[in-house]
Amino acid sequence: MLEFAGISASPGIAIGRVFLFLEDKLAIPRYPIAPSNVEAEQRRFADALERAAAELRALAGAGNPVVEAHLMMLEDPEFASGVRRGVAERNRNAEWVVAETVDELSERLGAAGTAYLQERTLDLHDVGQRLIGQLLEHRRPSLADAPEGSVIVTRTLMPSDTLALDRRRVVGIAADAGSRTSHTAILARSLGIPAVLGLSDITRHARQGEGICIDGNRGVVVVEPDSDTRARYARRKAAWEEATARLAGLNDLPAETLDGKLVTLEANIEVPDEVDAVLSHGADGIGLFRSEFLFLQPGRFPSEDEQERAYSAVLRAMGDRPVTIRTLDLGGDKIAAGFAFAAEANPILGWRAIRYCLARPEVFRTQLRALLRASMHGNLRLMFPLISGPAELERIREILAEVQAGLTRDGVPFRGDVPVGIMIEVPSAALISDLLAPRVDFFSIGTNDLIQYTLAVDRGNEAIAEIYEPLHPAVLRAIRAVVEAGRRQNIRVGICGEMAGEPLYAVLLLGLGLVDFSVSPYLVPEIKTILHACDSTEAATLADDCLALATPSEVRAVVTEFMHRRFPEHFLA
Ligand code: PEP
Ligand code: MG
Repeated sequence: MLEFAGISASPGIAIGRVFLFLEDKLAIPRYPIAPSNVEAEQRRFADALERAAAELRALAGAGNPVVEAHLMMLEDPEFASGVRRGVAERNRNAEWVVAETVDELSERLGAAGTAYLQERTLDLHDVGQRLIGQLLEHRRPSLADAPEGSVIVTRTLMPSDTLALDRRRVVGIAADAGSRTSHTAILARSLGIPAVLGLSDITRHARQGEGICIDGNRGVVVVEPDSDTRARYARRKAAWEEATARLAGLNDLPAETLDGKLVTLEANIEVPDEVDAVLSHGADGIGLFRSEFLFLQPGRFPSEDEQERAYSAVLRAMGDRPVTIRTLDLGGDKIAAGFAFAAEANPILGWRAIRYCLARPEVFRTQLRALLRASMHGNLRLMFPLISGPAELERIREILAEVQAGLTRDGVPFRGDVPVGIMIEVPSAALISDLLAPRVDFFSIGTNDLIQYTLAVDRGNEAIAEIYEPLHPAVLRAIRAVVEAGRRQNIRVGICGEMAGEPLYAVLLLGLGLVDFSVSPYLVPEIKTILHACDSTEAATLADDCLALATPSEVRAVVTEFMHRRFPEHFLA
């Protein structure tokens, strides 16, 4: 029996058999093309391109975000002309040039430094492999071959692999690579399949057909479990399913604590498709829609109309419920092919998010126009990332006013009362939250970045992951200060980082004064159950106890003891 710890990427418990899915990386033939054969080679490439697009369309219906993104890459005229040019100018075969082009593009994306963009290089390689597969007339292995009760064990799933994944037969996913923002994670969550990613080398230890248990709630995988372990997982699975089913019935009830304090539970989404999961899990709204997904096509940014359609679709689907759309938060300039600028020594401290948007007002204006137009279709809140002080906010207000004036001039309707809020994720913003509060309608604490910058720990660097400590007293004090600043100004203070979705922290966060949580849709019921069953005074006492401590490990010990004692069925099952 072997136990592995990874990242809990999609909640739930699964017990099944290993289905090893090891993508066989295609060997890429490299040979010169005689000038007289260039045209035939370019035709061979064009045919492969067409077949690859047809293959993709056959995999899943139109509207699937992965298919759409991949088709966009395949159909990007710059990509195709780049390969054709490569064949003609370098006199190389198409497979060779495709592989080179994909490498060049993904190097630029990977250099952006954010885990999110690095994950997108996967899509490029996926598209490249599909094309090369078509050129070589190779049949890719498929997840459609997985038998009933399979837990997919893989190095990483190419985004399009997951399209062939049949959720009646696949009960879980365990992968060497991947993060919470990877496609695999997003899709697993939207299919409701438990997944643990970032397991390093599970593929080296698991054998085809062997028994396996995975706990997507805790990020643990056990290969070849003994009978006690198997029984324990079976109990946890039953308890989880029972709790989820019970909660489905509570979907329409507002979350409130035992003493009647109202708690809002909203959801974080990355792609418009996730709205279904948001609604079916009873979220009160969308607390964070990361708009980056729309901006990942190589070569160009989405037009105002494309953006307007995507935002409106989400707003319409959510009806009266609030939808908080965050403006573009990319690691600066190196987003996609055609947008390469100078490399930065420290991209995380560099030209990202609002800094990029303020330096490229035309990109920002287009997004703001699209957002304001979409505001007519629902209950929009506008949110700006990575704010460090009032000057940025002033500039944002100026640009927003210009965009509103432009729309009025053009006779385009929009709502004039859209709330404007900022993410508190830079320590400077937390330290002067009292100065920022009078200037906005709401705050949302982005703990992923706030922890990273407060503790000076790269959130994506596994080597220092243990100093990335959400329970560090500095983080707790920062949260408390922001809540207090918001309270004095009477504005809403939400929390939308991963910390908000961790059940162990729920009571502590409530005690720090937070009543607006935004978490992955699948975690809404779990956090709701915990908050339903606690009292705001005991939460305040727990928070006060924790704030008096000096180290993260002391805080962790107190929080763990409290939660285990108060919710034994939840944490000790
Ligand atoms: C955060 O920083 O906590 C956050 C929610 O934003 P992102 O994870 O997209 O940086
Ligand atoms: Mg952030």
